[in-house]
Amino acid sequence: MTHDEASTTPSAAAPVVTVARGDGIGPEIMEATLAILDAAGARLTYDEIEVGEKVFQRGFTSGIEPASWDKLRHNKLFLKAPITTPQGGGYKSLNVTIRKTLGLFANVRPCVSYDPVVNTRYPGTDIAIIRENEEDTYAGIEHRQTQEVVQTLKLITRPGSERIIRYAFEYARMHARKKVSCMSKDNIMKLTDGLFHRMFDEIGAEYPDIERDHWIVDIGMARMANHPTQFDVIVTENLYGDILSDIAAELTGSVGLGGSANIGNGFAMFEAIHGSAPTIAGQGIANPSGLLLAAVMMLVHVGQRDVATRIHNGWLRTLEEGIHTGDIFTDGESRQRVGTRDFATAVIKRLGMAPSRLAAVDYTRATGEVSATIPILDRPYEAKQLVGVDLFLDWDEAGRDATVLGHKLEALDQAGLKLKMITNRGVKVYPDGFPETFHTDHWRCRFVSAKQVYGPVSHGQIIGILRACNEAGLDVIKTENLYTFDGQIGFSLGQGE
Ligand code: NAD
Repeated sequence: MTHDEASTTPSAAAPVVTVARGDGIGPEIMEATLAILDAAGARLTYDEIEVGEKVFQRGFTSGIEPASWDKLRHNKLFLKAPITTPQGGGYKSLNVTIRKTLGLFANVRPCVSYDPVVNTRYPGTDIAIIRENEEDTYAGIEHRQTQEVVQTLKLITRPGSERIIRYAFEYARMHARKKVSCMSKDNIMKLTDGLFHRMFDEIGAEYPDIERDHWIVDIGMARMANHPTQFDVIVTENLYGDILSDIAAELTGSVGLGGSANIGNGFAMFEAIHGSAPTIAGQGIANPSGLLLAAVMMLVHVGQRDVATRIHNGWLRTLEEGIHTGDIFTDGESRQRVGTRDFATAVIKRLGMAPSRLAAVDYTRATGEVSATIPILDRPYEAKQLVGVDLFLDWDEAGRDATVLGHKLEALDQAGLKLKMITNRGVKVYPDGFPETFHTDHWRCRFVSAKQVYGPVSHGQIIGILRACNEAGLDVIKTENLYTFDGQIGFSLGQGE
C-alpha cells in the first residue's frame, strides 16, 4: 500500500477549505486560528458555511442546511469549530451526522503533555488515540419495546474494524511509533468486541515491526489514566474511544489543548476535541490551541508541511515563554495570562522560532500521510445456516412467572420447533430458573429444531411459530434469527444456558 496516495491529499496549490465558526467559543477560536494560518503563509482558500445552533433554530433538525452539504462534498476539507447540540429529543448530533454521512471512519487524536511548561501530573505523555468513528452504539438505532425496556443496537462490522485497525498500524509506522494497543470488552461482548479483537490480532500480525497488546477496556482505561506513558498508539471502538480521548486530553493539562482529525476516503474534517464551552463564550478567554493544532494536522494532510512546522513550533515557543490562556495558567511556570486574541498575536510573533525546552517538531521530515484508501481483504464465503430464532415478547402476566410463560409457549403448535429456553435480560429463567432472578416485562424465547438442537430450520417454521404466538395473543416485539457460519455458532448463548 502506498502511503501518500493522491486520492486523500488534495492539490497542494491552494485547497479550498470549508470553514464553520460554530457556537459558543467557536467564533473566537476560529478567528484566532485563521489569523495564525494567514500570518504563517498557509496556502488555503476559505468557503464559509453556517452550522449549529442558529441552523437548528431555523428548523433544520440536523443543524446543517442542504446547500452546506453541497459545499462540504465539493471542497472535501472541513475546518470546524465546536457547535452546541440542543438538549432534548428531535435533534441529532451534527458531529455524528457529518462523520457518518461523509464516511469519516478514523478519528485521530494526539494527546501530548507539554511539561514542564503546562502543568500536568503525567510528564512525558504522548499518545495517539485512533477511534473508530462510524459504528458501535453510534449507529443511533434505538427502540422502546415494552413498558420497562429500551434498547440500543451495537453494530460492529468486519470491514469497519479491519479498516480502523489497519489505519492505526499504518499511522504507527508513518509516525515512527513503536506500539499499538487495542482496547475492547470481548470478555463480555464475545461477538462484537470479539470480532474487533480478532481483527486486531490478524491485522497486527502483518506488522511485525510494531509491538501490540490488547487490554480489556476497563483496566486499560484505568491504566492509561494512571500510567499514560505506557501507551503509544491506542485503537478502539467508537464509544470507548470517545471516553478515552477526553480522559487522555485532560491528563495533558487541558481539554483546550487537543486537536483531532476525522479522516475518510477523499474527505477530512479537522476540529478541536472540546465543545463550545458556552459558560466562557464571548469573554475572549478561550484557548484556541485545540483548533489551531487541528489546523496544523490539516496543513500536514494537504502537504503544507513547512507551514505546519512553523505554526506548531511558534505555538510551542509561546507556551514555553509562559504566555498562557486561563485554562492552563499556573503560578510559577506561567508568566502572562492572555485572552484568545493576544494568545494568537503572541503565536504570530513567534512564527519562525523554535522552542528550546520542549521538543521542536519537523513535519517536513516525513514524506506522506496515512492513506485513507484502506484495502479490505476478500474473505471466503462462510456457509450460513438458519438454526433457530429468538422471539422477544412483551409479557406481563401471571406475576411474571417464567414457568407460566414457558408452559404457554410449549402448548402452542411450534411448527416443528421447540422452546429451548427463556431468558430475561440475558439470564436463563426457564427451564430451571432461580427465584432470586429479577424479571422485567421483556422475554427472549429461543426456539430451535425439534429434531436436533441447532440443526437446520426453515423460515417457514419461524413464520409458523410467529403465527401461533399471534393467535395466542402474545406480543412479539422483535425476532432475531439464529445462524451458524461454516458450522460455528453466530449468536451468544444465554447466561446459564
Ligand atoms: P466543553 O468541552 O465545551 O467544556 C468542558 C469544560 O472545558 C468547560 O469547563 C469549558 O469551559 C472548558 N473548555 C473547553 N474548551 C475550552 C477552551 N478552548 N479553552 C478553555 N476552556 C475550555 O464540554 P461541554 O460543556 O460538555 O459541552 C458544551 C457544548 O459543546 C454541548 O452543547 C456539547 O454538545 C457541545 N460539544 C460539541 C463538540 C463539537 O462540536 N465537536 C464536542 C463536544 C461537545
